[in-house]
Amino acid sequence: MRYAPSPTGHLHIGNARTALFNYLFARHNNGTMVLRIEDTDTKRNIADGEKSQIENLHWLGIDWDEGPDKGGDFGPYRQSERREIYDKYIQQLVAEGKAYESYKTEEELEADRAAQKANHEMPHYVYEYEGMSEEQKQAKIAEAKAKGLEPVIRFHIPTDKTYEWNDIVKGDISIEGNTIGGDFVIMKRDGMPTYNFAVVIDDHLMEITHVLRGDDHIANTPKQMAIYEALGWEPPVFGHMTLIINGATGKKLSKRDESVLQFIEQYRELGYLPNAMFNFITLLGWSPKGEDEIFTKKEFIKLFDEHRLSKSPARFDQKKLEWVNNQYVKQSDPNLLTALALDNLIEAGRIPADPDPKTVEWARQMISLYIPQMSYTAQITDLSSIFFDKRADITDAERAELVDDNAKTVIDAVAKNLAALPTWSAYFINQAVYQVRVATGVKGRKLYMPIRIAATLHMHGPQLAETMELIGRDEVMANIKKVQA
Ligand code: GLU
Repeated sequence: MRYAPSPTGHLHIGNARTALFNYLFARHNNGTMVLRIEDTDTKRNIADGEKSQIENLHWLGIDWDEGPDKGGDFGPYRQSERREIYDKYIQQLVAEGKAYESYKTEEELEADRAAQKANHEMPHYVYEYEGMSEEQKQAKIAEAKAKGLEPVIRFHIPTDKTYEWNDIVKGDISIEGNTIGGDFVIMKRDGMPTYNFAVVIDDHLMEITHVLRGDDHIANTPKQMAIYEALGWEPPVFGHMTLIINGATGKKLSKRDESVLQFIEQYRELGYLPNAMFNFITLLGWSPKGEDEIFTKKEFIKLFDEHRLSKSPARFDQKKLEWVNNQYVKQSDPNLLTALALDNLIEAGRIPADPDPKTVEWARQMISLYIPQMSYTAQITDLSSIFFDKRADITDAERAELVDDNAKTVIDAVAKNLAALPTWSAYFINQAVYQVRVATGVKGRKLYMPIRIAATLHMHGPQLAETMELIGRDEVMANIKKVQA
């Protein structure tokens, strides 16, 4: 198996899914997983594309046996470093008359397309040496060369054939050779092979037996099969996975859709957990038997069955991702979550970039109050707003909570008890509140709500005593005075 990203961008959910299914297939079958960098489209590559892909794959928990960073017997694993290999096969195909130098200019191609459109024909390449003898063809090539034109190499595709394969996901697929668009380019003017050519050479030489990829590649598969045939090689088994749709809009998830985050890095920055992402993505277009949805990587490897890849589009549902992440948050080491959330608070400017140990300790305690509620740790910024967005006074809704006669009695009593506390800690604060309950007989919401509002100037928040401890003695006492006034 292999995952073959083009380093033209960061790791996208769709690519991550492709990587993941290939990885699960390889590990389930004790096969080999290869990472190959398809970087021949030099104009579209981005500077840290490869590094960022590798980093994010590792973060997700996907590894491989061979690759540019690992080595292996079938390298190099970057297509840009394999040009001699491609050249050899290009020369072979040209020598056998299965590929040829093509000098058609962009203007000529445009004219062909315009004529085809006028005739209501499907766009296709028109063979420029049609009806010519080998001599005439060579003369035409010599003429173009004399003019200083650079050729591309086109593959001569047999149009009288039907290309058929049994797709792992889609079942039997059959595509007529005459619908492919005619002879296609396998080497560009800059000497770089095209995707359809390089992928065949590499998959064959790297001994790839199974290819799982997105169904946007179905139209490429017959072209690749034709090259396999021309070289006398056996194609791998193909599986084309359904696309992913945005569950909220029902439209294909495209990189331009800004309504959902689509890059692994973005989730990583929000404090999503890698195991949760691994779990969620594996269920995009694949499911095991039964109703369970939470599995470890080990379990997924054991359970993986390519025949259960879905034939219908996978729905990307942000709410489900949050739910899955929350399942992992609840089981995770609190120290890890606290560290992630602390980074999120620094990122949001709530806490200075280089916090002193006292602030760190305070933040740790504060974060721990919110862990059970968090779907992902970046939510800490909004969740913890009562600690940061200080209010001058309470709102009308909060004041309305205090009209009850008991409220004043409770607040006065708690203020007295708090003022007398020897130590400002959640333990003693709880004692103080408990004594108010005993002394006044008020309990439940009628007891806690007035105290919460007076002490924190908010109606909502995490555990009361812990919250008061974290807000600090001076501020709590000042808040209570404001409300009493
Ligand atoms: N580099 C190709 C892509 O990113 C790989 C396609 C394939 O798996 O054959 O789409």
